[in-house]
Amino acid sequence: MPDSRRLEGKVAIVTGGGRGIGRAITQRFALEGATVVIAQRDVKSAESTVANVKSAGGTACVVPTDVGEPGQVTSLVDQVIESQGSIDILVNNAGQTGSNGPFLTMPLSTWRHILDVNLTGMFLCGQSVGRAMVERGIRGRIINIGSINSFAAEKEGAAYVASKGGVLLLTAAMAVEMAPHGIVVNCLAPGPIRVEKSAPVFDEEPIRSALPKAVPVGRAGAPEEVAAAAVFFASDECTFVTGASLLVDGGYRAYNRFD
Ligand code: NDP
Repeated sequence: MPDSRRLEGKVAIVTGGGRGIGRAITQRFALEGATVVIAQRDVKSAESTVANVKSAGGTACVVPTDVGEPGQVTSLVDQVIESQGSIDILVNNAGQTGSNGPFLTMPLSTWRHILDVNLTGMFLCGQSVGRAMVERGIRGRIINIGSINSFAAEKEGAAYVASKGGVLLLTAAMAVEMAPHGIVVNCLAPGPIRVEKSAPVFDEEPIRSALPKAVPVGRAGAPEEVAAAAVFFASDECTFVTGASLLVDGGYRAYNRFD
């Protein structure tokens, strides 16, 4: 539980903010004093997160959005500016996770869909929000959610790992071009995080036994542990860290696993 209000008065958009890691970010940012706009397709889970935020005394709302659709992203940004008067923080969290199937047989439609949501969606939201920030002189914060797969591949995930590899350098490119406007852009790269969708996989063999050995901390992470790291990147204290990536992975990437 935070003992400060590090995002007081800020307006944040969290894509995919109604479920999983996004929900934890929404809840934490609201506790830190931000007004949070959840942008995702499924209104039901988003509204339940909004209700949760409100019952904790925070402020949040939903704008149904498919981040891969340019018109919907433009409309999201227009609506938030109109209703809230500002956009100070964008968290590009929305993502299509899960297996893509074997590389040699993966259909082009799978490749296109994953890239559309995970990378093009980030481009569209980043560009639209970035323009709104620059036009209004807002020295904003943008957080792109990458992955441990921004650094290393895994089997049957070619489209996903390509999209997450792209997130790293898209973050760098955005940071370089928006730095003169005072906009700070960073990447958070989670390792294995237990969310509703991944929990059954983590609880089944062989992952169940492998996880404590593969992760030095000895367990999967919690979405709240990613949200805690996001607060710094979103805050006014993050002024000289830009174009960077931070792994939130319990030491997974640091460990060579040969001992
Ligand atoms: P979930 O599947 O639990 O949540 C994904 C979120 O993204 C949902 O809110 C979903 O809402 C939203 N989303 C998906 N497609 C779209 C779209 N086209 N437009 C708008 N929103 C969309 O996943 P996680 O919480 O696990 O993942 C969140 C992020 O963290 C992703 O970028 C993922 O790649 C990354 N990550 C997760 C890890 C983990 O172990 N959990 C590890 C490393 C990275 P809806 O479908 O309703 O639109």
